[in-house]
Amino acid sequence: MPTTIPTYRLSNGVEIPQIGFGTWQTPDGDTALHSVKTALQAGYRHIDTAAAYGNEASIGQAIADSGIDRPDLFITTKLWNTERGYETTLSAFEQSMRKLGLDYLDLYLIHWPANAKHSDGETINAETWRAFEKLYNDGRIKAIGVSNFLPHHLDALTKTATVAPMVNQIEYHPGQLQTETVDYCTAHDMVVQAWSPLGTGKMLSDETLTGIAANYGKSVAQVCIRWCLQNGTLPLPKSVTPERIRENLDVLDFTLTDADMQTINQLPYIGGSGLNPDTVTF
Ligand code: NDP
Repeated sequence: MPTTIPTYRLSNGVEIPQIGFGTWQTPDGDTALHSVKTALQAGYRHIDTAAAYGNEASIGQAIADSGIDRPDLFITTKLWNTERGYETTLSAFEQSMRKLGLDYLDLYLIHWPANAKHSDGETINAETWRAFEKLYNDGRIKAIGVSNFLPHHLDALTKTATVAPMVNQIEYHPGQLQTETVDYCTAHDMVVQAWSPLGTGKMLSDETLTGIAANYGKSVAQVCIRWCLQNGTLPLPKSVTPERIRENLDVLDFTLTDADMQTINQLPYIGGSGLNPDTVTF
């Protein structure tokens, strides 16, 4: 029996499965096809990709091959940085949809905010968002959101937005809690998605996490995913390894104690991407 994953409700009423399957660095072709098929068989119903990952076509193939009813799936893709702006966003969206082979999308995200590198970053983000609103109002997308937006990017966006972002996908794992951004999102009814919930693997050898995991008979990966859920965020674990894909979903039969949650919440920085949305140069 595949696992049934509970959902969060977005601000517009759309239900989103609380665990998504990450696909960054999953090569297009057999690897993406087989890993997404394995994930769907295991019970994942929420797949996270992006135009920049270059694997939308194989993910679309895995979705088509799965035979799962479209309404039971939740598919996210993201607009890449080179395509920001009103018209370019509309055409980039159509290209993603063609590759995915879908006639509607569940969630579209602005992958990164335009930042100080752009003299008119605020206008670029506003124009990109205007295209997102059009696609949303036209019924092409069930929900729209952003990724890697800090509170000041969100404040700027909401000056002109007529539809508020429903999701913010940010780096989130032990040692990197982004408390200010998470609190902002909570106050504005935005679901926080946790990218790199395992720190792209960097969390897995931490001694504190290893010790906690052993007490539950679980792996560190499972503890990180469970910790995201108990903090109200939506983890997006990635794997191309069938047993890990299944393991990462097997997190609904245990609860971390308040004391263990506190210990993990207070861990110092133990690695991450090191990327800052205000200074990235891509
Ligand atoms: P994760 O933090 O999920 O870590 C994935 C790494 O951990 C891989 O090397 C994987 O190996 C390994 N791994 C996974 N599960 C286990 C396990 N149970 N035991 C041991 N090792 C394990 O990775 P990502 O950095 O990819 O982040 C997750 C997702 O978040 C991305 O795939 C993407 O969808 C999203 N993301 C979004 C970003 C954004 O800017 N919006 C940026 C970065 C990520 P293997 O695959 O070999 O099994």
